[in-house]
Amino acid sequence: MPHHVNIALPIPARRTFTYTVPDDADVQCGMRALVPFGKRTLTGIIVETHAPSLAEAKPVHEILDVIPVFDATMLEFTKWMSDYYLASWGETLHAALPQGMTPESVISVSLTAPLDDRQLQEMARHAPKRAALLVALERHKGPLHVSTLQRALQSDSVASQLDALEHAGLVTISREIHGRAKAKTQKAVSLSADIRSDHDKLRALLDELDSRAPVQARIISVLSLHHRRSEEPMVVAELVKSAKAQTASIQTLVDKGICEEHVVEVQRRGDSDGAESLAHRDETALPLHAEQQHASDVIADALSSGQQKTFLLHGITGSGKTLVYMHAIRKARELGKSALVLVPEISLTPQLIDRFRMTFGNDIAVIHSRMSPGERYDTWRAIAGGRISIVLGVRSALFAPIASCGLIIVDEEHESSYKQDSPSPRYHARDSAVMRGVLNHAVVILGSATPSMESMYNAQTGKYHLLELHHRSDNAVLPTVRLIDVRDARKRKKMSGAFSDELLDEIKKRVAANEGVLLLQNRRGFSPRLECGDCGHIPTCNQCSVALTYHKHTNLLRCHYCGSTRPALKSCAECGSAEMAEVGVGTQRAEEELQELMERDGVKARIARVDLDSTSTKGSFRKLLTDFKNGSTDILIGTKMIAKGLDIDRVTLVGVINADLQLYVPDFRSTERTFQLLTQVAGRAGRSGSFKGEVLIQTGHPTHTALLASQLHDYHMMYNDELQHRREAVYPPYSRFVVIELTSTDMQMVDAHAQHLCFALPRTHPALQVLGPTRPMMDKLRGQFRRVIIIKNRKAEDPGGNILRHAISTALQHYRDRHAHSNVRVTVDVDSQSAV
Ligand code: ADP
Ligand code: ZN
Ligand code: ZN
Repeated sequence: MPHHVNIALPIPARRTFTYTVPDDADVQCGMRALVPFGKRTLTGIIVETHAPSLAEAKPVHEILDVIPVFDATMLEFTKWMSDYYLASWGETLHAALPQGMTPESVISVSLTAPLDDRQLQEMARHAPKRAALLVALERHKGPLHVSTLQRALQSDSVASQLDALEHAGLVTISREIHGRAKAKTQKAVSLSADIRSDHDKLRALLDELDSRAPVQARIISVLSLHHRRSEEPMVVAELVKSAKAQTASIQTLVDKGICEEHVVEVQRRGDSDGAESLAHRDETALPLHAEQQHASDVIADALSSGQQKTFLLHGITGSGKTLVYMHAIRKARELGKSALVLVPEISLTPQLIDRFRMTFGNDIAVIHSRMSPGERYDTWRAIAGGRISIVLGVRSALFAPIASCGLIIVDEEHESSYKQDSPSPRYHARDSAVMRGVLNHAVVILGSATPSMESMYNAQTGKYHLLELHHRSDNAVLPTVRLIDVRDARKRKKMSGAFSDELLDEIKKRVAANEGVLLLQNRRGFSPRLECGDCGHIPTCNQCSVALTYHKHTNLLRCHYCGSTRPALKSCAECGSAEMAEVGVGTQRAEEELQELMERDGVKARIARVDLDSTSTKGSFRKLLTDFKNGSTDILIGTKMIAKGLDIDRVTLVGVINADLQLYVPDFRSTERTFQLLTQVAGRAGRSGSFKGEVLIQTGHPTHTALLASQLHDYHMMYNDELQHRREAVYPPYSRFVVIELTSTDMQMVDAHAQHLCFALPRTHPALQVLGPTRPMMDKLRGQFRRVIIIKNRKAEDPGGNILRHAISTALQHYRDRHAHSNVRVTVDVDSQSAV
């Protein structure tokens, strides 16, 4: 008699599915199973082993594990996550599994050691399929591809046998593409090096091709966008799709020498091996200062007592939070527990990793986005096997299979990159970390110099325990902050381009004294756009509803999302005014402008730029930092990449070129985010007792709370002021902010569907405020129309969020039963971080 199991499948449907397994099969919850689903075969996770029987249940193809890949806690955790974020459990479990854990990821198999005859005979008796597999491998004398093995054994799948044999150490499985011979290769192209390195040349080329050969222009646009993110060439198939082009047009560009052809295998490399370390000492040897000592003691007590507690560690920049983390980790290890450290973005925190490596050596696994499936798999196994006691990684490291997880640290907890946008589950790694802490009975530390409104509110209301560090370590003091009113300076003719004379003077002084200068311009590239001086109209893309970038010398407007162009008009399309003016300065323009101004004033300054474009190659960010740290560069000018976590003694001046970029975007978090960015970047100055720091912030709004609070280093001023607004407008922390988004290529359809769905939501419930449907700021993206419904879920009326979840699930069900159509996509984002 077969029995029934319930399996969570990686599809959006928010339910599990019943299958049968043979009665003698050893099945446990948390094991992977290969199952038929319609015409497809899916890998799901067994979540219930004694399910009620169901007549039409199909048998599973295969159980893929001998020991579960998820333990009971991780099953509970992912279940919670899928409930809270309204995702399917199967999708959530799928997100929690590293790539490389699917049977398809196995590339080749070889024998670990020559076979022992007796062992083989033994096995032939109780596991004939495994034995046959070993014999096939032995006969071949070399690694074999899985499909070859399957053919040799006349079997559809050998995944479970392989898994068992790998566990027993009898076979070695390779999950990576090694030699070229076995690697699958693809054709790819890149922009030729001279065009990539020369922005003007690129622009000239684009402008030339725009009218004559728009398809070629589009290909170049797509490629140059691609190169901002990656050094690697772009796979031709991908390029054809993104640029809506034929391979013939690509070939033309190759023939002209504008593009270069490559043959690639998709392979990723590790992070920082062999590079110069950005850390120089084991910091745990330093004596703690009084506040650090107190925080460490309190945390150590919680760890020893084994109680679950969540701390908010609010420590000003340079107060030594990292050292508190390190002591907590050391304590956890003494108690035989493992630690999980989450950071917002690995590539932006090379220094933090080096500091941890310097202190903990190799007992630390770093999980980052550039890992290959093979590396991921190996790391996952090493962690699950308890061979590593510290895991440091980005958002997804939250799912690391740490068995005795006693400590979870979320560094820079206010960072919005902790929120997953897409795909589902759209979880917030910080809030989920707190939940994982609860389930693991672990101590959780959320650390920041500028805590999120939500976390501080939780601390103020007693849900979290607040620990504060008010002083900098090592006799350093906070820098003085000066606000420069650019509107006033411009009137008094004290501005050259984007730079005030005041800021230029300070820069020159520091360069002369051989001290470091950091300049923040939180916008990439040149990005000038046109704006009407009378009515404020900004020309936007028809496909994407984003501001078009202005290309001066050809007088064209170009969209950076889809590559389309149109001529720039002299007069405003809205009001007819002739006051269309170029506005906006990106990092690249700012760098050029500064270089010119320094030359004008006879100052020799070595300037380097830090943004996504200049750091796309592996190790380039690290190199820029090393040069700056040892004084071969005087000035780093960059996006918010330079605001995060840098700890470099010689920085005595931080300048903010335009503090207002984020201030007036229609986002209820804009004050909070501006304050966070300014405080973080200001915190890079004067971090050592031997250098005093100064910060100059250029703004048109010197009396705005975000600016004033930054000037006074007064987090609580911002917090209290902002809290008032949030309460009045029922925004977080007083509510859960939920965004339901509908997208479609058909505008009428998306409008109608948004209405239908909105109509199905309760309109008068005191716990729910439903707004919309409305057009978001970007109401069209790459040809997809977007509509949003916003729900503010009052926490006072619905503390656990049950009313919210019930309302949305019911409405979605109603919508699916009556209206759903494949041309309209609906997504739900609980605790959304995006501006709409
Ligand atoms: P935060 O993360 O709070 O901004 P860091 O942990 O980066 O601060 O510490 C800032 C600097 O002060 C680092 O160089 C660190 O090594 C140093 N530091 C921290 N605590 C101490 C201490 N107790 N004694 C001496 N130096 C310290
Ligand atoms: Zn106008
Ligand atoms: Zn566009």
